[in-house]
Amino acid sequence: MGIEEKLPSGFMLTSVEVLAGYMRKASLWPATFGLACCAIEMMTSGAPRYDLGRFGMEVFRASPRQADLMIVAGRVSQKMAPVVRQVYDQMVNPKWVLSMGVCASSGGMFNNYAIVQGVDHIVPVDIYLPGCPPRPEMLINAILELHQQIQNMPLGVNREEAARAAEAAALKA
Ligand code: SF4
Repeated sequence: MGIEEKLPSGFMLTSVEVLAGYMRKASLWPATFGLACCAIEMMTSGAPRYDLGRFGMEVFRASPRQADLMIVAGRVSQKMAPVVRQVYDQMVNPKWVLSMGVCASSGGMFNNYAIVQGVDHIVPVDIYLPGCPPRPEMLINAILELHQQIQNMPLGVNREEAARAAEAAALKA
């Protein structure tokens, strides 16, 4: 009997997926991208006291082409919205978005014409972090939650297509 007959079906693919998920989550590179006061807490998270580097991600990249995580730290003005989208489009796939703070997630206290009422109007968001501002421990906790999503993500899935399909299905329902 050949080895392929002895192994459970899908054994190799599952192992590769687990390995790829582990490597992806352990080497996230965030884009250098702060919009308002929340960005101060994000920067603090990378400093020695909180040491984001423990989770393989102390390297904030100045170029979106070298980054796979966008932390939207702060309110998004209407004028900034196209820039946010452009930075997102320039990031490599697969990529993730963390909405940090109530302003990024919903506009927060800035319920006015100048501020986008939630960054998910511009880019798909993978995880929302509440708070004004969220403390560095909260940001690190959200990143660890995101690690779980990344670990469980199947290989070969186009996340944008999947998000569009889910959006279309929700509109139909
Ligand atoms: Fe500033 Fe609070 Fe808004 Fe963050 S949530 S950008 S700390 S006002």
